[in-house]
Amino acid sequence: MITASVPPRQIPASWQRELAEAITRPAELAEALGLPLEALGAATTTFPLRVPRSFVARMRHGDPHDPLLRQILPVAAEQHEQPGYLADPLGEHAAQRAPALLQKYRGRALLITTETCAVHCRYCFRREFPYTEQRGDGERWGEALAALAADTSIEEIILSGGDPLSLGNARLNALGERLARIAHLRRVRVHTRLPVVLPARVDAGLLRWVRSSSLPMVFVLHANHPAEIDAQVRAACAALRAAGATLLNQTVLLAGVNDDETVLSLLSQRLFEAGVLPYYLHALDAVRGAAHFAVPDQRARRLAGALAARLPGYLVPRLVREIPGATAKTVLTPISGPR
Ligand SMILES: *Cc1c(COP(=O)(O)O)cnc(C)c1O
Ligand code: SF4
Repeated sequence: MITASVPPRQIPASWQRELAEAITRPAELAEALGLPLEALGAATTTFPLRVPRSFVARMRHGDPHDPLLRQILPVAAEQHEQPGYLADPLGEHAAQRAPALLQKYRGRALLITTETCAVHCRYCFRREFPYTEQRGDGERWGEALAALAADTSIEEIILSGGDPLSLGNARLNALGERLARIAHLRRVRVHTRLPVVLPARVDAGLLRWVRSSSLPMVFVLHANHPAEIDAQVRAACAALRAAGATLLNQTVLLAGVNDDETVLSLLSQRLFEAGVLPYYLHALDAVRGAAHFAVPDQRARRLAGALAARLPGYLVPRLVREIPGATAKTVLTPISGPR
């Protein structure tokens, strides 16, 4: 039977240490969860296992179907080719403005700051992204920043990746200073899963970076299940807010993880308690290896309708899909049932 949560381990000395000690072997994961390796059902895949221990500590001990575990466990289903599931489902290659700089929508551009993530999410649409060609470091950031500086129509820069907060504070400071010199920028947005999967990342240096920014900062976090939000995550979010950041969250709708009205409703409430407003609920991108997470549109729209019928409007994320070539994310209209 399912027992209580894994007891929290001792807090490592720093987030870098915690990142370096992330679990990458299925046997380690099985041991941490108190499961025999066979019960875990891990497969060897090209996109390897990677998960910080603090995230594993939020999984239910002894439960191979835990919704947090499903997000990070490589399984055999990933190897099944499915028609329509592609390496680059969003046509990101076509959206390239400069090396590491993507623009799809008016007024905002996205910078691939790094290829590194603290966690490898199995459904990630960039799981096959050719990061080595795109890496934004060294001279390549230079070209992207020059392209940004030359285009006064861009008001918002989105730091993405990979996970931008896997960069150290010194590199973030250096990037922030260069962005601050681009006069037409109005906002800096940070798309990151780190405050959720490794809340220790929100350290004093990061908070100084946020506090000292001359541009308003918006953090779009990424949590998919209410069990991801524990006291440490709430503390990290409170600190980011106190430093002046606006906090939003995006969720990916995932079969077997959060395709449930009660789970999504609880997620919105937990986010609110952490000072975070739900922003998007993304229909899964058709990336190769992720087909087993797909939720049919009709069901997704019913879920969105059910959420709208039980939560205040500001706690209902917009159900969206990304369609290559569209001028914005496309909203999937919620279907409301009888009361
Ligand atoms: C999703 C995305 C954005 C952000 O879209 P918003 O609707 O502003 O959140 C911007 N640029 C790219 C390339 C994106 O994929
Ligand atoms: S943290 Fe974000 S970019 Fe990294 S693997 Fe997960 S979904 Fe993909």
